[in-house]
Amino acid sequence: MQELKNAIMNRGKAINQDVLLVDSFLNHQVDVELMKHVGEAFAEHFKGRGFTRVVTIESSGIAPASFTALALGVPLVIMKKQTSKIMTGDLLHTTVRSFTKGTSYELTAKHEFLPEKENILLIDDFLASGEAAVGVINLAKQAGCNVGGIGIVIEKAFQTGHAKLTKMGYEVYSLARIKSMSENHIEFL
Ligand code: 5GP
Repeated sequence: MQELKNAIMNRGKAINQDVLLVDSFLNHQVDVELMKHVGEAFAEHFKGRGFTRVVTIESSGIAPASFTALALGVPLVIMKKQTSKIMTGDLLHTTVRSFTKGTSYELTAKHEFLPEKENILLIDDFLASGEAAVGVINLAKQAGCNVGGIGIVIEKAFQTGHAKLTKMGYEVYSLARIKSMSENHIEFL
């Protein structure tokens, strides 16, 4: 998606060879017009495949996933990284290792928002090691749901996530695939 690649080149910043900062348009300040186009691009690719829910992980996946759900006309469900006293009932949990923080966190969802047999489209901002996506897949399995596709805004193709998820049998569709990067250069596949 050229508009997204332009945003990455002009407004993103590789802080080293592994981590790309996109807080000017994706995960702190949000360019909602760009995110709307991102959502429409995912919907165009995944339309007609019977998705009944878009699922994402808080917080950076919410903007692109919202526009995708809007364009597909299905509900959005946000997997929570923190539980609270008011999050009660039949809860699903799994542990995920965080790429950016180097720590682990618990992913939680209410079973009532992921009822059995839903066909889930997972949308996330980044794909690195694929651990976050595997966490959503684990929660979906616990819920008795199918993950029918994975849409990624920015894939760091030099990391292991894409191979891991495709080997597990999942389709990964990324709007921008970064081949390599360093502080003053970003190259797309
Ligand atoms: P994974 O589980 O695939 O290793 O990492 C995915 C999650 O880590 C994404 O949801 C995203 O929040 C975060 N992440 C991974 N790599 C980057 C990066 O280069 N920049 C930013 N801003 N977040 C990243």
